[in-house]
Amino acid sequence: MEFAASNAPAPTRALATEAVHAGREDLVELGLHAAPIDLSTTYPSHDVAAEAARIDAFASTGGRLDGPPVYARLDNPTTARFETALARLEGTESAVAFASGMAALTAVLLVRASMGLRHVVAVRPLYGCSDHLLEGGLLGTEVTWTDPAGVAAAIRPDTGLVMVETPANPTLAEADIAALAHSCGSVPLLVDNTFATPVLQRPVEHGARIVLHSATKYLGGHGDVMGGVVACDEEFAAALRQVRFATGGVLHPMAGYLLLRGLSTLPVRVRAASTTAADLARRLAADPRVSRVHYPSVGGAMVSFEVYGDPRDVIAGVRLITPAVSLGSVDSLIQHPASISHRIVAEGDRRAAGVSDRLLRMSVGLEDVEDLWADLCEALSARRDPARTAPARTPAPEAVHAAPRTEAAGAPEPRPSVR
Ligand SMILES: *Cc1c(COP(=O)(O)O)cnc(C)c1O
Repeated sequence: MEFAASNAPAPTRALATEAVHAGREDLVELGLHAAPIDLSTTYPSHDVAAEAARIDAFASTGGRLDGPPVYARLDNPTTARFETALARLEGTESAVAFASGMAALTAVLLVRASMGLRHVVAVRPLYGCSDHLLEGGLLGTEVTWTDPAGVAAAIRPDTGLVMVETPANPTLAEADIAALAHSCGSVPLLVDNTFATPVLQRPVEHGARIVLHSATKYLGGHGDVMGGVVACDEEFAAALRQVRFATGGVLHPMAGYLLLRGLSTLPVRVRAASTTAADLARRLAADPRVSRVHYPSVGGAMVSFEVYGDPRDVIAGVRLITPAVSLGSVDSLIQHPASISHRIVAEGDRRAAGVSDRLLRMSVGLEDVEDLWADLCEALSARRDPARTAPARTPAPEAVHAAPRTEAAGAPEPRPSVR
């Protein structure tokens, strides 16, 4: 059994170069320019004994098959190109792709639970569905929620994983990955790097063992492909492939192709959108209709902000920005976490994690900043009752980069439509 040679340490190249070349090294030799899409679900062989030996090898090690995959639930050559490229960008030995971010997290939890390590220590806030999966114990895991300072004390003999998102969804709260990794001791630290992407942050360089992405977001980048991926060492990747084979959460090869294509523009997209997002964060922080702005010190294309008025009026008022959940697309999206992305988290837990009912989460795309600002300005004034515009109850807007803190604002009062 040989592991894919393409992940062997290559001469160090810049991220932008890797983004367009990793996973495509053999194309010239194949006489191709675009990566081929292999849609086979099965692979013919007349040599039954050799196939049996390959299946045995996979079952015992979880290593990548040397040669064609036998069956598409084991592996797929197109998806493997995306895995190779993402591992290179994150600086890990390997990566394993799944049908969605949630399928990827599920596989990580199952790998640890199957070793009897059913306890997870997690830092809130997390993406709503990740919170729900842990809180509900659907996979037989048990969670202890804590803040970064409480991680070391929360670890038990049966702790299999410590999980954090930084910047976190939706408050953009940041955690010190190196300090957390230190607190974890020998327990693997999983960092959900969906928001920062490897363009802005490579958690493994700071001591994380496992990096998770909802590839649906920035890696795909165009809002048209769903996927998840875990970047890690080959030992953990092998265990993930075995779980993926057994549970079936595989990424479709068409999605693998789109994700590989998405990676090639990832650095350009993330940098351009981050510049616009930082600009919008500054403008929002100076706007009297906005009470608080969250923008991470690491940068990025996400901006969250709290409004004095009803956040639902802002969602109803946008015209250029798309009022939709999800993030990381070329076009800008805005949503109200308390109503949508984090609806599934119990109200008390949501507020305790800093997810105010007045919080809006915006994913900044590649539009011109002036057009986005004009749309936001319109939306911030949408349906407002002039008698209630004075921000009497709250202090001056906080600066950009303000450390997110827990703040339970009251629920927005229902407003009669004035139309
Ligand atoms: C969307 C998201 C997920 C879940 O990913 P899916 O691809 O929707 O399954 C996990 N983590 C974060 C931070 C996300 O934003």
